[in-house]
Order: sequence, then C-alpha cells, then structure tokens
Amino acid sequence: AAPPGSRGPVAYTASMDEGRAERVGLLADLHRALEDEELALHYQPKLDLAFGLVTSVESLVRWDHPRLGRLSPDTFVPLAESTALIEPFTHHLLGKALHQARRWQDQGIDLSVAVNLSARNVVDPELPEKVAAALAVAGVPASRLTLEMTESSMVEDPRRTIEVLERLAAIGVTISLDDFGTGYSSLSYLQRLPVRELKIDRSFVRGLEATHSPENVAVSAALIRSITALKDALGLRVVAEGVEDHHVLEQLRDLGVDLIQGYVISRPMPADHLDSSMFRWHTT
Ligand code: C2E
Ligand code: CA
Ligand code: CA
Ligand code: CA
Repeated sequence: AAPPGSRGPVAYTASMDEGRAERVGLLADLHRALEDEELALHYQPKLDLAFGLVTSVESLVRWDHPRLGRLSPDTFVPLAESTALIEPFTHHLLGKALHQARRWQDQGIDLSVAVNLSARNVVDPELPEKVAAALAVAGVPASRLTLEMTESSMVEDPRRTIEVLERLAAIGVTISLDDFGTGYSSLSYLQRLPVRELKIDRSFVRGLEATHSPENVAVSAALIRSITALKDALGLRVVAEGVEDHHVLEQLRDLGVDLIQGYVISRPMPADHLDSSMFRWHTT
C-alpha cells in the first residue's frame, strides 16, 4: 500500500506546473523563514478535569509570511515534511517551545509544553540526543516536555520508531499519540509503545455534538468509552481535542476523558495572551 500522504499517479495538467512552482517558491521561503524568525508558536491549553486547571499546553506553529500574510500550518507543514527541512524546522520550534517553557518555569508556573513531531522526526536515531541537548540549553526538565506524534508516523518503520520513542521516554519525555483513532495501527500498538497520553481525534469528539442523530452520538460515545476503558490498564491519560461546547465537555468527562483541549477552553494564542488564572502556580 502507498504510504500515507503519498499521491497516486495523476493526469498532467497545465496548472500542475504552476502548483509545483508555487510549492518550490514557498519551500525556499520557508528555509529563509527559519533564519528570519517569521515562525511563531501559539499555545493552546489542555484543561485537566480532575484539577480544573491547565497543566499543559500544545504549541502550534504560525507563519507570518512577508508577502502572503499569516499562513496556517496545513499549508506549509506538509511542505516541510516532504523534504529534509522538517528536521531543522522541528528543531527550531522545539527550541522556541522550550524557551517559552523556561519562561513559565521562571514565573513560577507549573506547565508542560507539547511539541508536534512529524513522521520523519520519529525515525531519526539522533532525535533523543537532539531533544536532550535542547532541554539542557533551555534549562527545562524533561518532565515538562511532551512530544505529540500521530499513529500514521509509526507505519513507516515501526521498529525504528519504537526504539526512538523508548529512548525519549527513558530521558523522561512524555510521548503522546495524536489524532488517535484515525490510523490503522491503533490498539495493537499501544501495548508496545511507551505512550503516556492519547489524544482522541476531533472527528470522534464532533460526533457527540447535538447536531448528530442520537444513534450517531451513541456510537461516538461508545468509541470514546472503549478508549478510556483502556487507560488504566495501559497507564495512559486521555485528552479530547477540538472540544467546542460545554455540553460535549460534560459528556467527555462522564466518558472518562482526563483532559480537554479546544475552543471551549481557549483558542491557540501567543503565550502572553493566555489566561494565566487557569494555570497551576507554585506556592513557595
Ligand atoms: P493537530 O496537532 O491535530 O492540532 C490541532 C488543530 O486543531 C490545530 O490547528 C488547532 O488550532 C485546531 N483546534 C484546536 N481546538 C479546536 C476546536 O475546538 N475546533 C476546531 N475546529 N479546531 C481546533 P492548527 O494550529 O491549524 O494545526 C493544524 C495541524 O498542523 C496540527 O494538527 C498539526 O498536525 C500541524 N502542526 C501545527 N503546528 C505544528 C508544528 O509545530 N509542528 C508540526 N510538525 N506540525 C504542526
Ligand atoms: Ca497535535
Ligand atoms: Ca490532533
Ligand atoms: Ca491533526
């Protein structure tokens, strides 16, 4: 089978050349964007339902392109992923996220930061050393870093990925499985992976919304329940992403979800725009 993200043969069209030229141009811009500090991280809180506090945030990249304006990651992350640029790209953002984690730490805020990894990052045998070095430079303990990866990243080279993840977990970094439920590997892999967090994909969360028929809602609820039913046995915490309303939040709580992420809590925003009253502060 074709690896995820690859494209089958397509008929040639004149607009293909244009599209290709555009991508090449954007890729060159992206190389430069790293040096010129055009990439910024926004942060989105994950609310811990047991504490009623935000104990972690996910970093999400934004690109302020000098000509095209603010670009969303869906337009340029896949581009970076299609070349070796994804390695310096991820490292650049990891450094930024850890720098911010250090600032929160210095302010007395108890917060861990999540960084998204791409498939290519998790087969890099040097990733654990790179992460350890970045933590040391920032002066942040590994316990404050979560690395999010999708199940589909596993498919390429599961053995190599598992080894990289095990070494990351050994440093003390939390591994999170993103978009859970959308891949093929799912449950069978969980036992073999040093994963401590599962993020239920937004599509399942969407299924709970009142716009769906009661039957659909029941199926979504059962699917989510089947994931949370595993969490204790596997030593995992479960996050629901893309939660937009309070009614869904309450359903997720009843279904055994531990953390909530989504517009109902906060949109992703620059670090100093976040509502710090939801943070856990050190009392010394
Ligand atoms: P993701 O990791 O699944 O991130 C969640 C996406 O859902 C984010 O979109 C976030 O803004 C959006 N979101 C959060 N809450 C809600 C909600 O309540 N409703 C709706 N409709 N959307 C919500 P964003 O920031 O555009 O990122 C899209 C994807 O781009 C991410 O999906 C991730 O795959 C990728 N990405 C973003 N930042 C990075 C990065 O720094 N590195 C890498 N490798 N990928 C990144
Ligand atoms: Ca993510
Ligand atoms: Ca996700
Ligand atoms: Ca995603």
